[in-house]
Amino acid sequence: MDPLSLLVGAGIAVSGFLAGRFGTRRRAGERPEQVEPLCTCGHGLAYHDRESQDCHGLVKTAVKFDKVYGAVGYEMRPCTCRRYVGPMPLETFYAPEITD
Ligand SMILES: [Zn+2]
Ligand SMILES: [Zn+2]
Repeated sequence: MDPLSLLVGAGIAVSGFLAGRFGTRRRAGERPEQVEPLCTCGHGLAYHDRESQDCHGLVKTAVKFDKVYGAVGYEMRPCTCRRYVGPMPLETFYAPEITD
C-alpha cells in the first residue's frame, strides 16, 4: 500500500469519527426541547389537577402473572399519584391571584 492511500484512508476514518461526534452532539442539543418535565409517577404536569393535584393519567399495571415469565397481563389503571412533584415547566407558571 502506498503512503497516499494510507493518508486517504486515515482521513476518511477521522471525518467519519468527527461526523459521528457532531451528529451526537446535535441530537443531544435538540432533546431538552422535546423532553417534557415529568412527575415521579411518569406523567407530566398537564395530567395533574391544578387544584386537587390528583393525577388523571393511566398506569400500565401488571394484573396477570406467570410462574416462569412473571407479569404477562397488563391493564391500564388510574394513576394513584396525588401530587405533582416533578420539575415545574416555566411556561406553566401563571400570575398569582390578586387577593386585594
Ligand atoms: Zn404524578
Ligand atoms: Zn400520574
